[in-house]
Amino acid sequence: MSEIRNYLLVKGKTGLWEVIIGLEVHAQITSKSKLFSSASTDFGNEPNTQVSFIDAGFPGMLPVINEYCVEQAIKTGLGLNAEIHPVSVFDRKNYFYADLPTGYQISQFKHPIVGEGFLEIELIDGTTKNVAIERLHLEQDAGKSIHDQNPTKSYIDLNRAGVALMEIVTKPDMRSREEAMAFMRKLRSLLRYLGTCDGNMEQGSMRADVNISVRRPAEALGTRAEIKNVNSIRFLGQAVDYEVTRQIEILEEGGEILQETRLFDPVRGETRSMRSKEDAHDYRYFPDPDLPPLHLDPAMIEHLKQTLPELPEAKKKRFIKSFELSPYDAAILVSEREIADYFETTLEAGSFEDLPKRGKLIANWMTGDLFAALNRDNLSIAESKVSASALTGMVNLIIDGTISGRIAKDVFIEMWETGQEAIVIVQQKGLEQVSDNRAIDDCINQIMSANPQMVEDYRSGKDKLFGFFVGQVMKAMAGKANPSLVNEILIQKLKG
Ligand code: MN
Repeated sequence: MSEIRNYLLVKGKTGLWEVIIGLEVHAQITSKSKLFSSASTDFGNEPNTQVSFIDAGFPGMLPVINEYCVEQAIKTGLGLNAEIHPVSVFDRKNYFYADLPTGYQISQFKHPIVGEGFLEIELIDGTTKNVAIERLHLEQDAGKSIHDQNPTKSYIDLNRAGVALMEIVTKPDMRSREEAMAFMRKLRSLLRYLGTCDGNMEQGSMRADVNISVRRPAEALGTRAEIKNVNSIRFLGQAVDYEVTRQIEILEEGGEILQETRLFDPVRGETRSMRSKEDAHDYRYFPDPDLPPLHLDPAMIEHLKQTLPELPEAKKKRFIKSFELSPYDAAILVSEREIADYFETTLEAGSFEDLPKRGKLIANWMTGDLFAALNRDNLSIAESKVSASALTGMVNLIIDGTISGRIAKDVFIEMWETGQEAIVIVQQKGLEQVSDNRAIDDCINQIMSANPQMVEDYRSGKDKLFGFFVGQVMKAMAGKANPSLVNEILIQKLKG
């Protein structure tokens, strides 16, 4: 068990409590067809239009493993720094539910495809922590029961039945809502980098079962409750908060926590009991006689290892080293693959002189004006109204001195609103920076003669007035004067 960090403890009425959280995340594998049938996995189509006889549990149908889904699970295992098991076994997990026509789910129980690994998460205080992964196994999703379209009937949609899932199980390593949320964010980002799950939580592509218990510091683990199917990172935080408060209250009043499965109600922000927790033996697992054990070719695993994309940790280190970015900026830029791609596209489209300067400038524009605009319009970076190459065009104008950073802010807004290239806006509006000494000289002379008292005050030691003169010159020249030239000439002239 990892060491206890005091600031993570929760204060109850009778003393301190430690929160223990483990997650079981179901992630839908990105794949055109299902785990054991060739039916489509497209989202949002007419109910029951993507169902093969296998998915519908017709007699005599035999499942055939989808090799691509197996590869996706292996890639995910490699991304989680985990052991890939050369042999794994598919089992039948038996239970009755209307949306499960076969009466069993094909899953992996004793011999999962991926074993122990870890995922590094970043904490608010800037430190990192490894969350241990217990296993990753392959299994099928069930269909969907629809209870809200008819007052007396329930409907079944089997489009999702048989879709491939990875169930990723952590050890009980997380100690706060922040750690659990950081884990989900990081896992989602990793899966999206790998292209093994789209991470679309609203569509149910990724959902978490949250195991929560509390205990007195350093004592044995308490009884846990499992909160099922939490489908947003915000809800995960709310569910943890509610559950921790509930459990501490019960224990402090001398009660007992029941081992049970609970549901999170996002409208009320509370969890409710669903059923007492079943044990594994209740499901009567046994190896599926229709599927032989899955043997993996070591050469295939090696090949997949070679084709993995650069993952966030490696990318972050490279950004810090090559572009002298702060760890904070680098972490933001690699947090999503699309953001990192945008950064690199913007960088590569420009000339490569002074890479750190260019990198730093682009990073600042992205984390500043670009992210502000995206947030304001509620857009993802893929939907940005200023493309990576358009931003390159603007950054080039700043670097070659055509426009000042100040003017660039206005140009950026105009680009966002009109979709025009920076150079077009600059030429149409005559926004080129004035680097002509004569023009700046004349302007400074005028401002000094209009403010004789200020000049005198400055010369008698009021250094702070320098900013006033810079401001006046910039204002008079509509922000277009080259700032370093203005500074240089002002210093000379004010000396007298
Ligand atoms: Mn499962």
